[in-house]
Amino acid sequence: MARNPAPRSASASSRDGGTESELAKKRRARKINRLLAAAHPDAECELDYANPLELAVATILSAQCTDVRVNLTTPALFKRYRSAADYAEANPEEVEAIIRPTGFYRNKTKSIIGLGKALVEHHGGRLPEDMDALVKLPGIGRKTANVIRGNAFGAPGITVDTHMIRITNRLGLVEGTDPVKLEYQIQKLIEPREWTMFSHRVIFHGRRVCIARKPACGACTLAAICPSYGEGPTDPAEAAKLLKGDNVDELIKLAGIEHAVSR
Ligand code: SF4
Repeated sequence: MARNPAPRSASASSRDGGTESELAKKRRARKINRLLAAAHPDAECELDYANPLELAVATILSAQCTDVRVNLTTPALFKRYRSAADYAEANPEEVEAIIRPTGFYRNKTKSIIGLGKALVEHHGGRLPEDMDALVKLPGIGRKTANVIRGNAFGAPGITVDTHMIRITNRLGLVEGTDPVKLEYQIQKLIEPREWTMFSHRVIFHGRRVCIARKPACGACTLAAICPSYGEGPTDPAEAAKLLKGDNVDELIKLAGIEHAVSR
């Protein structure tokens, strides 16, 4: 399936002022989801947690911090504080000392202790599943609420983070950068049962292929249906060098560029 250089397909015209019907866009979005599923079968929530409360705390810590660093920090935190009441009664200085490596530790400590207090006062110490209730909790915005609902409660949720904003715009699926507007735009395109996994796949694609500064267009499985093809190098060998992650060989195979890449 040698495909590079990728053609500027009909769908690419949407970026150039052409018209792509809503139906055509929906079909393309679902094809993108299928291709991403094949490219990133290991896509998942990369934060370690054992229950909804731990996921909520880990997600608060993940702001401006890598998931890897959060996962190095949370074992000590989760061992010391096991319930919402534990966080509610925590000594801020002790929490700060544990979570310091994740950055912005003072604000994060306030959010975590505030979360514990709010859960004890209003929800019997348990994390609510309802979106409206979640976003009223300290430290939890819509993005975090969707992560919690999608991963801890199995309720479909689209996580609009920096990768989702960049990639859905590059793919011409959405317009703008407002996270809430984007969430609703994407909801119209992707089947609800796929929302959570679509979010994980887009994030993996953003980390491994469609990288912010230099997307690996010439090694991308979405090249033929992406209006931004060419934003990064289209030469397969050059693009392949930009790929990251555990499954680079598989990504090269899926892009049909093995012939051009010597590894
Ligand atoms: S890497 Fe290039 S072709 Fe692939 S999705 Fe990103 S911009 Fe489009």
